Amino acid sequence: MKIHEYQAKELLSSYGVPVPSGKVAMTADEAYEIAKTICPCVIKAQVHSGGRGKAGGVKIARTPEEARDIARTMLGMTLVTKQTGPEGKPVSCVLVGDAVEVEREYYLSITGDSVNAGLVLVVCADGGTEIEDLAKTRPEAIVQIPVSAIEGFRGYQGIRAAEVLRLDGENQKQLVSMLRAMTRLYLEKDCSLIEINPLVRTKDGNLMCLDAKINFDDNALFRHPDLAQLRDISQEDAKEYRASCSDLNYVSLDGDIGCLVNGAGLAMATMDIIRNFGGNPANFLDVGGSATTERVKAAFEILLSDGNVKAIFVNIFGGIMKCDIIAEGLVQATREMGVSIPIVVRLEGTNVDAGRRIINESGLSIISASDMADGARKAIQAAKGGRA
Ligand code: GDP
Ligand code: MN
Repeated sequence: MKIHEYQAKELLSSYGVPVPSGKVAMTADEAYEIAKTICPCVIKAQVHSGGRGKAGGVKIARTPEEARDIARTMLGMTLVTKQTGPEGKPVSCVLVGDAVEVEREYYLSITGDSVNAGLVLVVCADGGTEIEDLAKTRPEAIVQIPVSAIEGFRGYQGIRAAEVLRLDGENQKQLVSMLRAMTRLYLEKDCSLIEINPLVRTKDGNLMCLDAKINFDDNALFRHPDLAQLRDISQEDAKEYRASCSDLNYVSLDGDIGCLVNGAGLAMATMDIIRNFGGNPANFLDVGGSATTERVKAAFEILLSDGNVKAIFVNIFGGIMKCDIIAEGLVQATREMGVSIPIVVRLEGTNVDAGRRIINESGLSIISASDMADGARKAIQAAKGGRA
């Protein structure tokens, strides 16, 4: 789960990480009122995405009137950045913050490190909006410092980070205490990412966090009901949100073959085999081992609501999940929703005969496949508009 910058800054601040003063505004008038107390100020569109600076989502205002005008333009707009995809993200609030005078911008983040089964600090002396380009042109400038998840943060790791950022004296101390606080936050709140870009040295010589991103591990959110409340579904892919409400593991992709599969491994194999025969999956979807007819229907609805889907490939191996249950859900959903695109079905496993019978007797035009490869080929053909 992602949260907004203003929420991330509040959380960081509660752990003692210095952030510029600021407040969130839902309307242009609120922005005006806040700006009366903080001016000059920076108005920042709150969306779950980076790249706002380059896309016009970060603007400086010299007067409260200017802050109101900027907020009015930003609020309600759909901000398209390099990271949002062409559909963009809606701006329903803006952060009005102190326009800090920046001397230098750094990059700082903490994330999980699966190789070392721990955490890793990622630091770079050249932070700011060019970091993605830098990662390509000068990757050696971005330094990783491993941190043990059991021992937690150690002072020497902070000293090393300060060395990379070429910070000493008071700034070195500030950095070490900032990193200690960030690591504690990361572990206590089950984060999967804390990214501060830019971390800045202000004109008066102090370190401060100018932008912040925090992501949480969804599987641990049940331990943090207060954090779960920070979820903003307007920032999420609508199909992924519906899927999460029905307990489906769904990831939206940009191909044209909708996949309905049981089991994460089989779902991956299905995507691979579609790619192998030259097709493109529109999603990853695992309906799980214990799917009910209702859940299969919900899965179908999500696939059908995707305008890019030209054909659906249902690939089921009935183990715990029985083929007749899947077939039942499929037939019901197809009938109720008046599906107009081709559906290719490959069923195997428990109650396969009953499942096939349900499909054959339904009178619906469902293309049956003998195995996975056959199903993938037929789905690709069908998506192209031809019959297999
Ligand atoms: P992002 O583009 O979505 O990552 O948004 P950021 O919050 O990182 O803002 C982009 C850039 O705007 C930063 O790298 C800074 O250079 C600039 N910026 C953001 N906030 C301030 C501020 O308070 N003062 C100044 N001087 N620049 C800022
Ligand atoms: Mn940033």
